[in-house]
Amino acid sequence: MAIKSVAKEAEEIMLASQMVSLGARLQVLQAETSLSYDRLAKLYREVKGCSPPKGMLPFSVDWFMTWLPNIHSSLFYNIYSYIHEHTPSKNAYALIEAYKVYLEQAGAGRGGVDTSEPLLSFTRAWMLVRFFESGLLQLSQCERCTGHFVAHAHDPQKGFVCAICRPPPRAGKTRANRARRTAEEQVVTV
Ligand SMILES: [Zn+2]
Repeated sequence: MAIKSVAKEAEEIMLASQMVSLGARLQVLQAETSLSYDRLAKLYREVKGCSPPKGMLPFSVDWFMTWLPNIHSSLFYNIYSYIHEHTPSKNAYALIEAYKVYLEQAGAGRGGVDTSEPLLSFTRAWMLVRFFESGLLQLSQCERCTGHFVAHAHDPQKGFVCAICRPPPRAGKTRANRARRTAEEQVVTV
């Protein structure tokens, strides 16, 4: 059995506990550190005050393609690739930093106070990075707003329009209804 450096182990414990506090599942910790399952489960209980949830990780690529998740995932992945490419933070460290920035940005619209679960969980963010690394996803540039959005790998880039520029009919209808109501109210009050 290889002798593990104490400093290296301490570093991995710090890394794992940061990931747990951001919401990482046990499978993520196992993939990102060399700590044993028992140590990770113990650490999880210490940080979270409850046992780690059992069961499979959400494995679908399709989730990232649905409307609102796609916007959140694209926001996160743009932050992640910037940090990964332009700062000394790599891999799990880049993921943690990017996820903190994502939480700030995603909560910003609601006055920065958001007690509900973030739409993109830490574990999903980790899956997203894995999907990019395994070549299942790509960033496509929207031809209207020029932003980069998560898309299936090998989808044609030409003519791509993002989820913000082309919201689904239901979201568009809600907005149209609201606009019409506002217009009607204005007519009434005049
Ligand atoms: Zn767009």
